[in-house]
Amino acid sequence: MTAPSVKAPALAGLREDLTGEVHVPGDPGYDEARAIFNSMIDRRPAVIAGCASEEDVARAIRFGRENDLEIAVRGGGHSVAGMSLNDSGLVVDLRRMRSADVDTEVRAIRVGGGATMSDLDRAAQPHGLATTGGRVSTTGVGGFTLGGGSGWLERRFGLACDNLVSVDLVTADGESVHASGDENPELFWALHGGGGNFGVATAMTLRLHPLPSFSFVLLMFTPEAGFEVVTTYRELMESAPDEAGGGAIYLTGPPEDFVPPDLVGTLLCAALVTYAGTEAQARAVAAPLLDIPHVAEVVAELPYADFQCMLDDPPGMRNYWSAEYLELFPDEAAEQFCDLATSMPMPSPSQHALLPMGGAVARSGGQYPVPWRQSPWAVHPFGVWEDPADDERGRQWVRDVRKGVQPWTAGHVYLNFIGQEGRERVVAGFGAGNYRRLAAVKAEYDPDNVFHLNHNIEPTSE
Ligand code: FAD
Repeated sequence: MTAPSVKAPALAGLREDLTGEVHVPGDPGYDEARAIFNSMIDRRPAVIAGCASEEDVARAIRFGRENDLEIAVRGGGHSVAGMSLNDSGLVVDLRRMRSADVDTEVRAIRVGGGATMSDLDRAAQPHGLATTGGRVSTTGVGGFTLGGGSGWLERRFGLACDNLVSVDLVTADGESVHASGDENPELFWALHGGGGNFGVATAMTLRLHPLPSFSFVLLMFTPEAGFEVVTTYRELMESAPDEAGGGAIYLTGPPEDFVPPDLVGTLLCAALVTYAGTEAQARAVAAPLLDIPHVAEVVAELPYADFQCMLDDPPGMRNYWSAEYLELFPDEAAEQFCDLATSMPMPSPSQHALLPMGGAVARSGGQYPVPWRQSPWAVHPFGVWEDPADDERGRQWVRDVRKGVQPWTAGHVYLNFIGQEGRERVVAGFGAGNYRRLAAVKAEYDPDNVFHLNHNIEPTSE
């Protein structure tokens, strides 16, 4: 069966031209090819073009435009709103482009446009090198980095985009462009947060840093201790070295050996201190938390790449996420944060996280269009559940969290942490001045807004 909107000869031509694989409805593998992390998204593209090279990407984009197909670009498939899929359009699927090559001399890694964080971390780990990655290993380096890139190592090494050395891009007219500090610098600037608006990144080079050891302290407490835990975590992070990160996170007690059986499936408050260093250093920073009576404790020093996949969320769940960036986190905000946890959909893998910024995030990269980096705290509710009957309850809880912390926000938001929340939020993600500048770059590289399945920047010349 061929897709209704694409003529059979055109499709046959694409199949012949592409070194990767093409899937249309009815093909074996079509359903696997259109499945993404968030099972709430059920879209049926007309053509999924599995690209294996820069040339394939250019061919696929030209094919999409010649056949009037809406174009989506898929990397790791982690956009919570499902922006890497469409109905009846073309998906440029980058999952065959997962190379990760380390250059130890200049301490950099070149990854393919569809590489996941795991591909990057696993290639860098044997050399004792790392760079800021996401908090799980299955996220695409492309969507993550081009959108900013926030993770465990950010207070030490900056955001992922701060570590971009260069990007190879295929633009909306199928042309290849190289962007770096020296070549196409305005485009390079825009790629530090502007996401997939300007073209398809077929390769990216990122700076690596020595990371001889990595450790963490994970403690779990009953929710009654939540306020003390959250405020203690706040205080220790306010004076912690850049090596420390983590978060204070409400969650459902997981079915793990270290959790007492009677607390599995109940609401718990966790404190996680990550440390780009030894276990002793992690313990020293986490000491005030270790002093609070807790119900579960895991402390370990381990390769960073191993830690990165410890929190990989189960795929196939229904997801609705959002975030607010806070300018202040006084006791009243902490109280509110703790109260909002009590209506989290339970039991489920949902989480209600307080994440610290600061360190290198706040100190560097001020020139890039990601102003939220200056906020000291992020509140990130991620609603995750299994049963469609819980959809409205899950969404409402996330919206309630956003509303509940409004008094302490200045309106900044990191767009990678949210779904489709409207144009106003996109502008807030960049700041109005940056948005205008990004819109001018968009007008130069994608004047017809071909790449609009993203946190969209509308093309406008200044
Ligand atoms: P996709 O859905 O494939 O793509 C997302 C967007 O990026 C789409 O618009 C797509 O078109 C575009 N895109 C992807 N690859 C390319 C490319 N090569 N060239 C051009 N455009 C591209 N974010 C954080 O900052 N820190 C975290 O710790 C973090 N943890 C996460 C954990 C989970 C389980 C999930 C689901 C998401 C997490 N995110 C995190 C959010 C994540 O960074 C964003 O959703 C990001 O956009 C995902 O990129 P992707 O390539 O996996 O997703």
